[in-house]
Amino acid sequence: MSRVFNFSAGPSALPEQVLSKAASELVEYRNAGMSVMEMSHRSGDFDEIINRAETLLRELMGIPKNYHVLFLQGGASSQFAMVPLNLFKTHKSADFIHTGEWTRRAIAEAKKYGTANIIASSEDKNFSYIPKPEKSSFSKNVDYFHICTNNTIEGTRYTSIPDTGDIPLIADMSSNILSEAMDVAGYALIFAGAQKNIGPAGLTIVIIRDDLVGHAMEITPTMLNYKTHSDNKSLYNTPPTFGVYMAMLVFEWIKDLGGTAAMQKINEKKASLLYDFLDESKIFKGTAAREDRSIMNIPYTTDSSDLNEKFLKEASKNGMVNLRGHRSVGGMRASIYNPMPVEGVEKLVSFMKKFETDNS
Ligand SMILES: *Cc1c(COP(=O)(O)O)cnc(C)c1O
Repeated sequence: MSRVFNFSAGPSALPEQVLSKAASELVEYRNAGMSVMEMSHRSGDFDEIINRAETLLRELMGIPKNYHVLFLQGGASSQFAMVPLNLFKTHKSADFIHTGEWTRRAIAEAKKYGTANIIASSEDKNFSYIPKPEKSSFSKNVDYFHICTNNTIEGTRYTSIPDTGDIPLIADMSSNILSEAMDVAGYALIFAGAQKNIGPAGLTIVIIRDDLVGHAMEITPTMLNYKTHSDNKSLYNTPPTFGVYMAMLVFEWIKDLGGTAAMQKINEKKASLLYDFLDESKIFKGTAAREDRSIMNIPYTTDSSDLNEKFLKEASKNGMVNLRGHRSVGGMRASIYNPMPVEGVEKLVSFMKKFETDNS
């Protein structure tokens, strides 16, 4: 077997231990006589799996009792519609800090059901930083305030969250959930597609404060109403059962490593290895503003597209794949989510050093 170091932005690498564990239980899950994929979502075995996944996530993130944890389908992109459909109850209006492609899509979707105010944007510099608007620029009459805590494509992240007072703060955490210790109580609703830091594609996690449930607009489809899923413990219809099982294994893996605080230390170490090199390199440079740099997605480039191509090709030959940057940023991007081991980043950095020596 020769697994590569996979720097994909998503779907992305999973911990090898988790894959091995899943493989060992694939054909027959424990004593169930069948695979998790084949069992009823209403069976006792699956009930244990989904309950354990929820318990572990609550423990890892310190999710308060007055929040529901939902296991849904539809990806983070469906949340761009679900959030306004469920939360536009009084003003049919929301504030957004616009930080890239994923907020662009959230804004476009919210506009279908009401008003989306862009109260700050980093579009002027190709979304290479996080704007820090004054509280006085926040709207008073809005139903919620939306941010994307880690911008997967642009490689920026919030290091402190805006103080929105009584206005519910909504966070798209698709690419940094569980990567660092976070205060869930500071948010009213958190959502994340699983395929970056949690498990296979097809599962979407929603963490929602209970007072926000039950106010959906009349037109809201049953499946897009949070109440449908919170009333039925995510079993109104068939949830992505295998995805929930894989998430449970990933949560166990994080817990065994020491939880999110331990995970954060490892992630900061990995990110520093790469950033320290980028800061001193003569041919590579990071593209995000230093104070807002993501510890999950690290875009960088040389000043020659030929050199970028050469780098990507040689990296791939050396077992480091999916390093191509998003087309809107160009160059390279190393996505180093929780499962990326320190050795993967060390190997990348020493390869970059050698590439620099050979090409300058
Ligand atoms: C990947 C990503 C999305 C889109 O997720 P899907 O599950 O593919 O819909 C949304 N927001 C962020 C921050 C992402 O990284």
